[in-house]
Amino acid sequence: MSIDRRKFLSKSATAGAVGAGLAFPMVAKAQQSFNWKMTSAYPKGSPFYFDGPGSATDLAKRIDVMSGGRLKIQVFGAGELVPAFEGFDAVRAGTVEMNHANSYFWTGKTFAAQYFTAVPFGMNFQGMNGWLYDGGGIDLWNEVYEPFGMVAMPCGNTGVQMTGWFKKEIKSVADLKGLKMRIPGLAGKVYANLGVDVKVLPGGEIFPALERGVIDAAEFVGPYQDRRLGLQKAAKFYHTTGWHEPATVSELLINKAAWQKLPKDLQAVVENAAAACNVISEGWCQKANSEAMEDLIKNQKVIAKPLPDAVIKALRVETEKVLAEAVAKDPMTKKVHESYMAFKAKYDRWSGYSEAAYHAKVRG
Ligand code: CA
Repeated sequence: MSIDRRKFLSKSATAGAVGAGLAFPMVAKAQQSFNWKMTSAYPKGSPFYFDGPGSATDLAKRIDVMSGGRLKIQVFGAGELVPAFEGFDAVRAGTVEMNHANSYFWTGKTFAAQYFTAVPFGMNFQGMNGWLYDGGGIDLWNEVYEPFGMVAMPCGNTGVQMTGWFKKEIKSVADLKGLKMRIPGLAGKVYANLGVDVKVLPGGEIFPALERGVIDAAEFVGPYQDRRLGLQKAAKFYHTTGWHEPATVSELLINKAAWQKLPKDLQAVVENAAAACNVISEGWCQKANSEAMEDLIKNQKVIAKPLPDAVIKALRVETEKVLAEAVAKDPMTKKVHESYMAFKAKYDRWSGYSEAAYHAKVRG
């Protein structure tokens, strides 16, 4: 240790002793501790969502460590405390302080919530982060939840998903007519407009339904999660790419009254832990999906193919119609839609010079 450093330490120790009386009330406030509960829309043990890098349990661990144990969060899987899709109501009522899910589960409460998870033909991970963190996205998210007494922030991302699994290859728009497909949410409405017989099934029921022919096709997430359900054993055509979910955001939903009781430093801990999980979970998905995709193609005879251009074009036309209808019905959806699309237009132009140009010219 250098002499200067020793002198400095000795001076600060003296200053600390003299100032201790004054500092005490601040220390007492700073050391106030909190025990919170967080529910998840996904079952205990689900990779990415519940366990593993950037998941709900990882988020709770990071908050515990970063807060020096002053904010402890007990995490509950779907069905443990409340059913999978009742986290919104539980946080709103204050039964739990937090919920970990995706905001598009709440479109029945407020349609604008769709935009904070994924928009079909919308932005990728980079663009979405740009809008959320720096383009006013998170502020709008909080505005949408204001009437419900909640705040929200991103805390995970799957990256681009896959179109899904098909027993027969899709070669034209006509092949979609009468196709029985598991596909939830807004994308389901788009497919329905093109004649798809849309089925909404929870994750665990997809494989048996596809295997028995109750459905002809199914969308879930991407190579790692889909392989875990065994979907490759029930259908061989794996269409790409995730036009419907180009970067699916995980949502950390927080009761606003509970949030306002947290000291500023603990609020910062939550925000920083959630931002870390947003990046870390997406990184994990890239690794897990690269490995799973290779295995599916090399070892499990899966045929991965992009949807034909004509099908993509038809899906895009229908998506625009479905979004226009939603915008016409609800002023808040209109406000969020306009912010999202204005950011996207700029991001798309920039991306044309950067990401897209890189992929087209360098990556091939
Ligand atoms: Ca999906």
